[in-house]
Amino acid sequence: MAEERRSILVASGLDPSGGAGFIADVRVVERAGWRAAGAITAQTVQDTCGVRRVEPVGAELLEAQLTALLSDVEVAAVKIGLVADGGGAEALARALALTGAPIVWDPVGAASSGAALALEDLASLAARLAPEVDLITPNLAEAGAILGRRVSDLEAARVAAVDLAARFGCAVLVTGGHLEGAPTDVLAADGSATDIAGRRVAGAAVHGTGCFLSSAIACGLAAGLDAGAAARRAKAELEARLDDPAHPGRGAPAVL
Ligand code: PLP
Repeated sequence: MAEERRSILVASGLDPSGGAGFIADVRVVERAGWRAAGAITAQTVQDTCGVRRVEPVGAELLEAQLTALLSDVEVAAVKIGLVADGGGAEALARALALTGAPIVWDPVGAASSGAALALEDLASLAARLAPEVDLITPNLAEAGAILGRRVSDLEAARVAAVDLAARFGCAVLVTGGHLEGAPTDVLAADGSATDIAGRRVAGAAVHGTGCFLSSAIACGLAAGLDAGAAARRAKAELEARLDDPAHPGRGAPAVL
């Protein structure tokens, strides 16, 4: 009999180029030895040169997909990526009440190219979804958008992580890839903030880093690691991948 692999549920947007979003999330999960199950939250028209269009999947359809899945398949963790509108955030919040597994949400506002991916502001999406998840992983701009202020240096990232954790009652990893200097992430959990040091990898901006990191963290939580250990391991894996990115098209390189 085949050895059963446990499932990790991925709910994210479809980047048809595969460098980010659902396809990248599934790759991370399967490479880590888990079985991916999933629902698409939004279709996009994009290639490695940029995003041209975003179409959210209808909230009723998304909730029906997630409810069917979570009533049937026992999941070890959930990774949520792009949630493009408020109906989607509410559908996810309702459906995810069906699982007790750890839930990671990477709140995506815009692509690294600058193109908008979420059609509603992140603060209102976060108000609906973040209280239902265990860990959110905003970058500096996304943390700033949710809080309504600029978050641009390490000290501001530490304060933002603690403020977001208090607001939503979840752990928060503010990722520091866009900091000047060392790319330090800040994890706020249980009332205190901890820096997670990183190594800057030289080269062009790589597509899909946030998707990779949050999916790898979900894999760590599924394996029983705490948020700090899962975040450290995922960051080390991401840095190793950044040394040798993929080049699927004429535009940006991709993590995998
Ligand atoms: N497309 C989708 C569906 C995504 O979820 C993301 C990021 O999460 C992107 C594109 C953009 O990825 P990046 O900002 O790494 O270029």
